[in-house]
Amino acid sequence: MDRPKLLLTTVFGPYGIKNKYAEGVGMQMELFNNQITREQGVHSPRANYWTFPLYFLAENLSAVPTTVLDFPTWKDYIRELKKGYTHVGISFTQQNVIKAKRMTKYLREQYPETNIILGGYGTMLPDLEDIVPCDEICRGEGVGWLREYFGENPEAPIKHPIMHGVSQKYLYGFRDVIDDSGVLFPGLGCTNGCFFCSTSNKFNNSYIAFLPTGESVFAVCREAQEKLGVEGFAILDENFLKMPERARDLLVEMEQHRRPYSFAMFSSAETIAEVGVDFLVRLGVCLIWVGVESKKTIFSKVKDIDVHSLIAELQAKGITVISSSILFVEHHDKVTLEEEINWAIGLGTDLHQFMQLIPFPGTPLYSKYVAEGKMIPDFPYTKLHGQDELAFYHPHFTSKEAGRITREAFRKKYETDGPGVLNMALTVIRGYKRAKGDMKSREEAGLFWNPQTLRYERSTGYQIDEFMNLRIEQMRQRALEFRPLIPSARIFAPNNGSRKKAAQAAALYNETLGKPTLRERIRSYGLVCFATIEWLRIRVRRLFSRGEIVRQPLTCRVEYNSECSNFSPVETSKIPSGLQHRCNLSS
Ligand code: SF4
Repeated sequence: MDRPKLLLTTVFGPYGIKNKYAEGVGMQMELFNNQITREQGVHSPRANYWTFPLYFLAENLSAVPTTVLDFPTWKDYIRELKKGYTHVGISFTQQNVIKAKRMTKYLREQYPETNIILGGYGTMLPDLEDIVPCDEICRGEGVGWLREYFGENPEAPIKHPIMHGVSQKYLYGFRDVIDDSGVLFPGLGCTNGCFFCSTSNKFNNSYIAFLPTGESVFAVCREAQEKLGVEGFAILDENFLKMPERARDLLVEMEQHRRPYSFAMFSSAETIAEVGVDFLVRLGVCLIWVGVESKKTIFSKVKDIDVHSLIAELQAKGITVISSSILFVEHHDKVTLEEEINWAIGLGTDLHQFMQLIPFPGTPLYSKYVAEGKMIPDFPYTKLHGQDELAFYHPHFTSKEAGRITREAFRKKYETDGPGVLNMALTVIRGYKRAKGDMKSREEAGLFWNPQTLRYERSTGYQIDEFMNLRIEQMRQRALEFRPLIPSARIFAPNNGSRKKAAQAAALYNETLGKPTLRERIRSYGLVCFATIEWLRIRVRRLFSRGEIVRQPLTCRVEYNSECSNFSPVETSKIPSGLQHRCNLSS
């Protein structure tokens, strides 16, 4: 056999455009606009993220020359194959299975010698091999699997890529080219085993830690800070706080080295309750996603937890909260579903994701529905995205009406609470104000942080909490970043309630930080100009029934285990910044 040469690729674009390979609604390659700030028009932040797992896999193969192709067009894919690969690995989700099929069919026709490896959540499909021609399927954790497949040591130490997480981002139509955050991938899976959850069930309700200690997480943060200059990180881990000792040790490391990194993360309610909100503030959690799922406590992760109070405390202390809930669960009828939506909106979180119940193949929910004959026969996998039609027979809702109800739920959240970015701006400034007040109160009361109990406790002797001072300054900087968007949020507010909220936010910023400087005012006016153009573009598209603006992710191509001088990004590519350090582009 030829010396192996591996291509790891995502499915091809365009994304979020309905065609014979994929759906439009619910399938954009961005998180916020697709399923969180949906229906928020000009206020919806737009961002695409790199397909981090592919870079992670490539980084951890030592002897096989590997190329990552992230978000290629069909043409990019064809052109790349001409470079000659012995193996092509395609990572895809269940909804993108038809794209994977087209890619593999082409491979079989044009390059019959090439080995095809399939990976990603799409591998949970029961009839995958009937749909997509392939040689191998990696169904579990990919690093160990690929290493073993290519004869490498599966137990070799894990190397974490150093790179930015976002490929491009827009706010009010303005493209922000400064990416000030990195990405951490501490582990895979979740032990909670919720019956509908693909992540948990794909890894047999277990957790695989790549960064098992606070020290290892800190080391990656530090390397990223040195190479990319970033101090904030998105943590790609379903439940990072589920290993509280790791989070606790991470804080100890940050305090010892006076490096107050900040984090956006996912967490279930019971783990937040366990470690406490003060710990999260100190740890630098600026955004947290909490799956509350349903007002009816059918999930152990919210059992006996006062979710309202927990969320209120998180936000009062400056942590942006994204909550998520599931619509069209079995107990929902017309009345209870409306109650559920109102309950979710009543949580008052900055942002909320409404997701329909999806019986994903590979989950207990799917097995149960198949056994009970509840699945709609031949429901296309491409529609398993949870934003439009239901894949199963619901006793009280038709599959078709589910899409309208879901869209209206987003609309209701928007009209009730206003733009999500405005809510975030308010949370940030309130949190900063509160943190300063809390610090003063603690000093007066002689309370100091106890890293053992994760609480502030009375202590003899006076100590200055220098780390918290650094953290508070970071919160102030964060508030300054949000301030320029308030005028745009006010001008394009959906109703009077939102306009008033924006006015209150502006007043609170003035009271807390003083009047905006000339530079800040110019930034605000500039953003209003961009917002006006974006708003007009949206209007015109609606007028001509052209749907909303869909932003395509950038394409990226990175070679691993090759001479740096061979580095040759495709025309449309952008290299995630961290990878530029790996291959010196100027060489
Ligand atoms: S807590 Fe979240 S990630 Fe964990 S099993 Fe439940 S839904 Fe999945």
